[in-house]
Amino acid sequence: MRKPIIGGNWKMNKGTPSEATEMLKKLIPLVKEINSVDIVIVPPFTALYSTIECVQNTNIMVGAQNMYFEEKGAFTGETSPLFLKELGCKFVILGHSERRDIFKETNELVNKKLKKALSLGLNTIVCIGEHLEERETGRTKEIIENQFSNTFKDLNNEEMSKVVIAYEPIWAIGTGKTATPEQAEEIHVFIRELLTKNYNKKTADIVRIQYGGSIKPKNAEDIFKKENIDGGLVGGASLQADSLYEVIKAAETSIK
Ligand code: PEP
Repeated sequence: MRKPIIGGNWKMNKGTPSEATEMLKKLIPLVKEINSVDIVIVPPFTALYSTIECVQNTNIMVGAQNMYFEEKGAFTGETSPLFLKELGCKFVILGHSERRDIFKETNELVNKKLKKALSLGLNTIVCIGEHLEERETGRTKEIIENQFSNTFKDLNNEEMSKVVIAYEPIWAIGTGKTATPEQAEEIHVFIRELLTKNYNKKTADIVRIQYGGSIKPKNAEDIFKKENIDGGLVGGASLQADSLYEVIKAAETSIK
């Protein structure tokens, strides 16, 4: 039994303490009875402190959208994982496609960040996914396998079991185009096979694989019902309390 996990990735939105708090004050009472789904809100860095304060003693955890692999020093503009831990962040998203595509983050860089986060006990949501052109030329599995082996390079079973993988087809992120539940499940099954092949069956059974890409209240349940889909990473629909709540409810009702 894998507990579904819903991440609300606010991207570069709601980054002021007042905007973040306003949303959270609506969300907290809506989700307060939900214990069978892990809920992680991932605001911009500038709203992390106020978000962590606001969700204290609730069932909502907080994550950061990125981190650096060094702990301190001359790395202007970067954020140390130690700062995140001290602040009270429980999760960090690594290798989001916007980081990979816009900021040129490579599998190797994401791997370094991942190893550092794991060594410090910070939970990670690690994103992988193919571009439209890669899907259309039949290369989805090849791309996923390559990202998988390089991003998770040199992790042992114990480390890998702590990672949450977000499968996010890039063509579905922020575009309103969602993978069909069948398309998503096919790749989730493939990722689970990669886990079995590269780690062991126990690890493959434990690792949660979220789907991400234009999840909305109207499509969430059909996606989450699939056997290998353990919740979602939600961008646009996580900005409003009502829509995020409906997505979380869909994850709750789809528990396998
Ligand atoms: C995301 O930010 O990871 C994401 C999936 O965004 P959206 O839900 O807006 O497509």
